[in-house]
Amino acid sequence: MRQKVIAGNWKMYKTIPEALRLVNQLRKKLEAQPPRRTRVIVCPPFTALAPVHEALQGSNIGLGAQNIFWEEEGAYTGEISAAMVKSTGAKYVIIGHSERRRYFHEEEAIINKKIKIALKNKLKVIHCIGESLEEREQGLTMEVVSNQVEWDLKDLTPQDLKNIIIAYEPVWAIGTGKTATPEQAEEVHSFLRDILDALFDKGAGKGMTILYGGSVKPENAASLLSQPDIDGALVGGACLKADSFFKIIQASEKVG
Ligand code: PEP
Repeated sequence: MRQKVIAGNWKMYKTIPEALRLVNQLRKKLEAQPPRRTRVIVCPPFTALAPVHEALQGSNIGLGAQNIFWEEEGAYTGEISAAMVKSTGAKYVIIGHSERRRYFHEEEAIINKKIKIALKNKLKVIHCIGESLEEREQGLTMEVVSNQVEWDLKDLTPQDLKNIIIAYEPVWAIGTGKTATPEQAEEVHSFLRDILDALFDKGAGKGMTILYGGSVKPENAASLLSQPDIDGALVGGACLKADSFFKIIQASEKVG
């Protein structure tokens, strides 16, 4: 049985004091009502990783980064390696987010290198994929997501998949307030499981944790999370307040 996961992508928000305030508020709520079926992960900016890790000591909240560089180390001014992220205490890293594909021109080959270096450094990967509005309107959604899975995960083994969570995030739904309907999301999630079976081995799809992301809020979380192939959510805007993120975790607990 796949575990439910609710992960928060803080993007470029929260200074260190703000990050500590948020995570302490969240921790308090989760300690009052501990989730029984849902893995909770927070992904603050790099600067807050080590302090947030410290603040999370003794809690079950997982910690992840939002990016890494694809080389082990070297003269890459301003970049952060997988080992550096690991040394903060983080266990996860988001790779392939549409904002990185769009603003930093990260293509499949780069994402593939980043996933490989993350796994080599024993970081679990939250791998984001999803189509643009134009691609959806042209009926290309399935082609786009299957290409992303094929090329981003090139050369990986079924064993590697155990350390990967996929997040299906239609680009047109991220930060826009537009959410995919539960049926639209379910259709893609179910298709992704077939693609994983075809690319890896039978059972790969069934075993994969696949999250939905794109304007998930307390008001729409339950209907999305109750779909059979949706295992949780990657949450942007609504994870920046402890109250709304906690309500999404509660919704996951209710449907789990
Ligand atoms: C995200 O950043 O991954 C995301 C889904 O953002 P939002 O929830 O704000 O759409």
